[in-house]
Amino acid sequence: MAKKLDLYDVTIIGGGPAGLYAAFYSGMRDMKTKLIEAREELGGRTLMYPEKIVWDVGGLAPVRAAQLTQVMTRQAQTFDPTIVLGQQITGLERMADGTMLITSATGEQHWSRTLILAVGHGALKLARLDLPGAENYEKTNLHYTVTELASFRDKRVLISGGGDSAIDWANALVEIAASVTLVHRREHFGGLEQNVKQMKASNVQVLTPYVITDLYGNGKRLDAVSIAPLNEDGEWTKETGLKRLAVDAVLINHGLRGDLGPMLNWGLAREDWNFKADEKLATNLPGVFVAGDTANYGSKLYLIAGAFTDAALAVNSAKLYIEPNAPTRAQVSSNNSKFDEMNRALELVEDCS
Ligand SMILES: Cc1cc2nc3c(=O)[nH]c(=O)nc-3n(C[C@H](O)[C@H](O)[C@H](O)COP(=O)(O)OP(=O)(O)OC[C@H]3O[C@@H](n4cnc5c(N)ncnc54)[C@H](O)[C@@H]3O)c2cc1C
Repeated sequence: MAKKLDLYDVTIIGGGPAGLYAAFYSGMRDMKTKLIEAREELGGRTLMYPEKIVWDVGGLAPVRAAQLTQVMTRQAQTFDPTIVLGQQITGLERMADGTMLITSATGEQHWSRTLILAVGHGALKLARLDLPGAENYEKTNLHYTVTELASFRDKRVLISGGGDSAIDWANALVEIAASVTLVHRREHFGGLEQNVKQMKASNVQVLTPYVITDLYGNGKRLDAVSIAPLNEDGEWTKETGLKRLAVDAVLINHGLRGDLGPMLNWGLAREDWNFKADEKLATNLPGVFVAGDTANYGSKLYLIAGAFTDAALAVNSAKLYIEPNAPTRAQVSSNNSKFDEMNRALELVEDCS
């Protein structure tokens, strides 16, 4: 069991916009802070659309999501919080003295006085092909990413997906594969416009709105798949016209899906798919607060800007939970002695440039 010497004032679960801003603001409130992220990278959902230009973050328009991720990550590190990557938090246990023991799927333990759940839709995982027996082919020729381009040389490749990854791989593979067919369930593609144009002008056979309906193989290796067009209701039927395609490799790029997992058994009150909170971002569990997309309260704003506001409110609530007599919010940064030294360093750089 981890020593309680490692007790943190606040542990933030989730390293998306809400978690990153909470880490910064928690430092401003002088709290010993830890942030734990399930993935190996910080940024949350902004990692899903790095090339997209974001216009609706106050004071920052326009900015590519990749750049926004970098800036948010830098800001989160201002007060040197402990940042833990690659741990999906699954367990929560409350001790008699009120401290919380938080455990990860791989057994690591973390101690905290308060908790901020900034978990969005849950731990982001690859969306797998939802067809019977699909997992049997994952060791051979059903792929979710390309690890070695050359292994697709002279093969008949079917790609399913319409985002950046699907389109980038179609453009890369068409140069070396015998053929590339891309199916996507919508007419519209989510990928970068110039890459979509490049794909449409190339030898990639693009079929929309189509989905994969059946897999054919010997249980170890796929030989063929059926695909079908979707009707106006977004469904396929045998009547809409199944096509059978012989394939040597299938690449699925259906993006990432969130999974709240065992957190759903912690006794947190829910509202729709996420967690119910009051206007101070408190949940029904003492000392447990929420921020960002995972929070649900009357005036909730499902935007990055909303995630930032939630984060500051949740941190203020955590501070007051630990120190009921503390000021209700932090002193503004432009008039806060915590920044004196950092400001002097910045002014020095400005003076020298
Ligand atoms: C394609 C797309 C475009 C968008 N465009 C815009 C836009 O232009 N403007 C805008 O304001 N918003 C936009 N959004 C919405 C915006 O990205 C979200 O509102 C925002 O990311 C929410 O931030 P968050 O921190 O609450 O959650 P998330 O960004 O989802 O981050 C949650 C993090 O928590 C981690 N996590 C979850 N469970 C666990 C666990 N158990 N243990 C450890 N870590 C865990 C996840 O891995 C993830 O990194 C867009 C969203 C998408 C999908």
